[in-house]
Amino acid sequence: MIPYGRQDITQEDIDAVVRTLKSDFLTQGPVIPELEYKLCKYTGARYSVAVNSCTSALHIACLALDLGPGDILWTSPISFVASANCALYCNATVDFVDINLDTALISIESLKEKLEYAEKEGKLPKIVIPVHFAGQPCNMEEIHTLSQQYGFKIIEDAAHAIGAKYQNNPVGNCLYSDITVFSFHPVKIITTGEGGAAMTNSSKLAEKMSLLRTHGITRDPVKMKNKLGGLWYYEQIDLGFNYRMTDIQAALGISQLKRLDQYILRRTEIAKWYDKKFKDVAVTPLMQKSDRSSAYHLYVILVGEGKNKREKLYNYLYEHNIRVNVHYIPIYRQAYYSNSDTLKVADMYYQRTISLPMFTNITTSELNTVVDNTTKHIGLIRQ
Ligand SMILES: *Cc1c(COP(=O)(O)O)cnc(C)c1O
Repeated sequence: MIPYGRQDITQEDIDAVVRTLKSDFLTQGPVIPELEYKLCKYTGARYSVAVNSCTSALHIACLALDLGPGDILWTSPISFVASANCALYCNATVDFVDINLDTALISIESLKEKLEYAEKEGKLPKIVIPVHFAGQPCNMEEIHTLSQQYGFKIIEDAAHAIGAKYQNNPVGNCLYSDITVFSFHPVKIITTGEGGAAMTNSSKLAEKMSLLRTHGITRDPVKMKNKLGGLWYYEQIDLGFNYRMTDIQAALGISQLKRLDQYILRRTEIAKWYDKKFKDVAVTPLMQKSDRSSAYHLYVILVGEGKNKREKLYNYLYEHNIRVNVHYIPIYRQAYYSNSDTLKVADMYYQRTISLPMFTNITTSELNTVVDNTTKHIGLIRQ
């Protein structure tokens, strides 16, 4: 069986985890700040807050940006549900911006139109979450310009995109956003088992997110309301959560981070290889923009528009022990979101998309199996 994604764990990773298991701290120890420091160094962001998942990072990012009841958050419908759920955790409402069919990234045209309309209606979003789908960054410069014009905040959902570059800069540097979030789930680019991080250049946002990560408790006398003193004294000054990452996970993260650039090279090599093999096949790989480079979390192709074409390819590959996937069912199509409006391009994309196996240690023979079976089922472009 060929999975669609799989983590890469080396002996060095295992040794790093075991070292932490034998150390004084399993959690709240020195390995977490070390991972945070290394994430800052890699991305160029000033601050990093490591947490137990990207979902938690999205939640505390929204809270740090003061999202609350009556507020509106916009995101892409072609994403994992977590990109939208974070709004609902804060009792805000969520709405979706349509995508471009060729990249599956949020459409700048649709965003502009929707903003113009929302301004007239007095329903502008407080936060927009662009999703760097499949690892390719969104057009951040344009989204940033619009944020200045309409006064919204930006959280980049970079769950797919650690290691990607936009205008030659690493995703996560927050040059065009307030906060960027990463996921370290095993299927993503690097893993900590479960885990995530929020990057920012604002000390205020970083402090707020750190507080929310640990119950809203501070041990800093400067921040306390009551100066009761005592070495044991700590104070809860906000309602937070236990969203902490463990040092065991952080040790794995640091070890994985060392191979991040190597992983991106390998994923890029696989993607270019697929591109070449599919040149004459009647499928369309996602378009890659020239001012950015993808982390290639996913390798996505679109099949032709014919009825059930995607379903038939999915079933065919599945029968041949190739585990493909569909990224994503538009979030507004989820039962829980059934009151939302639907979007034309996102729906069209959903009918045609399929994600082929993509992971660093896939073998050439496995890749050939995927391409041969896809080609056999779909056929060549008619000349
Ligand atoms: C995986 C994913 C998340 C959530 O990440 P977790 O670490 O599993 O919580 C959020 N957004 C996107 C786009 C994802 O793919």
